[in-house]
Amino acid sequence: MPEETIFSKIIRKEIPSDIVYQDDLVTAFRDISPQAPVHVLIVPNHLIPSVNDVTDDDEAVMGRMMNVARIIAEQEGITESGYRLIVNCGPDGHQDVMHLHMHILGGRDMGFMLSRP
Ligand code: 5GP
Repeated sequence: MPEETIFSKIIRKEIPSDIVYQDDLVTAFRDISPQAPVHVLIVPNHLIPSVNDVTDDDEAVMGRMMNVARIIAEQEGITESGYRLIVNCGPDGHQDVMHLHMHILGGRDMGFMLSRP
């Protein structure tokens, strides 16, 4: 069994967070260290550590995450201005929390997709 992270406690509301959406499959809450005026994380309610651990059985929840990204963009008023969705994976992707999550970033021009080294 993979080890739970702080995100599982947020999903179960055992610790405080600013949850903006929750249903039977996913939870979305504001990032504690926002990198843009809108910075929300969407996570599966059950623990999937990273994209490397996604299975065929997870296709419904993966699809729900994308649909909820659209809903949150509407809630946050950034549908027309645009936004960026990011899913980091593993060391080179700089994934810090091993509970798969999608970042929604918007509310300003997000610049080029990647910094140029
Ligand atoms: P990663 O680098 O793994 O893709 O992103 C992890 C994100 O989780 C970071 O943006 C970080 O600020 C956020 N984060 C880490 N711990 C907490 C927490 O306890 N609460 C909330 N709301 N966000 C967190």
